[in-house]
Amino acid sequence: MNFIKTTLALAGGAAIAVSSMSSQAQAGVTDADIANDSKTTHQIVTNGMGRKGQRFSPLKIVNKSNVKKLLPVWSFSFGGEKQRGQESQPLIYDGVMYVTSSYSRIFAVDVKTGEELWQYDARLPDGIMPCCDVINRGAALYGDLVYFGTLDAKLVALDRKTGKVKWKKKLGDYKAGYSFTAAPFIVKGNVITGVSGGEFGIVGKVEARNAETGELVWSRPTIEGHMGMLNGKPSTMTGKLNATWPGDMWKSGGGATWLGGNYDDETDTIFYGAGNPAPWNSHLRKGDNLYAASRLAINPDNGEIKWHLQTTPWEGWDYDGVNEVVSFNAGGKKLAATADRNGFFYVMDRTNGKLQNATPFVEQISWASSIDVKTGRPNFIDSNRAGDPTKSADGKKGKAIFAVPSFLGGKNWMPMAYSQNSGLFYVPSNEWGMDLWNEPVTYKKGAAYLGAGFTIKPLFEDYIGSLKAIDPMDGSIKWELKNNAPLWAGVMTTAGGLVFTGNPEGYFMALDDATGKVLWKFQTGSGIVSQPVTWEENGEQYFAVVSGWGGAVPLWGGDVAKRIKHLNQGGSVWVFKMPK
Ligand code: CA
Repeated sequence: MNFIKTTLALAGGAAIAVSSMSSQAQAGVTDADIANDSKTTHQIVTNGMGRKGQRFSPLKIVNKSNVKKLLPVWSFSFGGEKQRGQESQPLIYDGVMYVTSSYSRIFAVDVKTGEELWQYDARLPDGIMPCCDVINRGAALYGDLVYFGTLDAKLVALDRKTGKVKWKKKLGDYKAGYSFTAAPFIVKGNVITGVSGGEFGIVGKVEARNAETGELVWSRPTIEGHMGMLNGKPSTMTGKLNATWPGDMWKSGGGATWLGGNYDDETDTIFYGAGNPAPWNSHLRKGDNLYAASRLAINPDNGEIKWHLQTTPWEGWDYDGVNEVVSFNAGGKKLAATADRNGFFYVMDRTNGKLQNATPFVEQISWASSIDVKTGRPNFIDSNRAGDPTKSADGKKGKAIFAVPSFLGGKNWMPMAYSQNSGLFYVPSNEWGMDLWNEPVTYKKGAAYLGAGFTIKPLFEDYIGSLKAIDPMDGSIKWELKNNAPLWAGVMTTAGGLVFTGNPEGYFMALDDATGKVLWKFQTGSGIVSQPVTWEENGEQYFAVVSGWGGAVPLWGGDVAKRIKHLNQGGSVWVFKMPK
């Protein structure tokens, strides 16, 4: 632990030379650190608390019998006049917490004391176009660098000890609607990213850059017809031109890769989701619209797509297919699960994408009756597709429908967790629907590209949010915890038999993983829409969660937003442990 003290002492003084990762491979966070992150308990160097994204900690110092003793250790404010939604997951390394915040800021904080070591503020230009609040979901660590994305679509690499910029690369043109808010991740010496902007008719892509230099290694567009890149040259076209897209619609076809992905070392595969096809008015783009609304399994060496699962072909409800793919092994199989915006929970063989089962995890799903497990395709309820405006009397507004889930999804971005203790998935979901209708629209650079109108409505008087424990072997729901406001925070599980999450009402909560009973909660002063973590130091188990209400719900939530308008904004990170 001497190294920590040295680092902290230097951080306040002279600049430190950054050694190259190739010449000094063991400096800072190593490939082994990243590969073992789900098992090591003294640090957290990946988003998802391990590459598979299970968000499961083997720690059980804090467990069902003693969790009620948890007390705050410190709280750190992100400060400034700018607050809004805080969706970040902290990283913990060498005695330092790296945590991102709203408006593309990142902080290095002493984990023992909560004292700030440095802050980096991306100084955003006027005219950025984040669709869904000015959030950020976290950073990546590798070597002596820390990486994060910005609302003006840059990827920034900073010296983790000083916060000084090592390199900065443009991921897309922010004036065309590109931005980046997901946590990057590291695979084989490359930093992997996506892009946001599906509501502006951008084209989604997954990219790998040399982590040391930032040079592009490969780029894989998510929309059929666009050309990939490998080592500075065009590689292969995504899909086949016009196979599932009419005319030129693929040129502004969406499929934003806004939520980030992860990597499974057992199958050597990057999993990344692609959002809705653009525009929302599906009558303008008849066809499956590959690879929008799909999960992609990508070869990390060249960016080629190995297989895909399109959860909503000819998507017409803004059911982005971006949600996280969580790898797990059960019944002698290499499986993966994902809970879609469209309300279905999918379990697949992650070696080939073949569905094992697909079951509803929210109530009253209106757009499809079921998923055909053989083909992976939904059995559509055709009357629940919003009408074609060109068929209406004035040509301006198609037939409106009431669809469930709402476009904010049975589950949105907030990551679920898998417990190796219970074998269950814990899925933060919401029960809501929407009035939806289509309108004419044409693509214009930097303008919203929807061609739709909508109002989100709750389904029930007493709750919208619902945390569900789901058995991945048959999709059955073991228990449910209802919450008045929509749930918008990630979940974490532990070997201590606990499930941790937060709610917009401000509580950080610990639940019994077998029953859903709330065993402990703490009011953090603003809504929780972030991703909790836990780690161990000197025999004590620590917890951290970011607090700060915001995100897409207050901006887009229609009648739901009215129900929750009393919730206050904030911006802080809280750390907890049991008293000695
Ligand atoms: Ca979308």
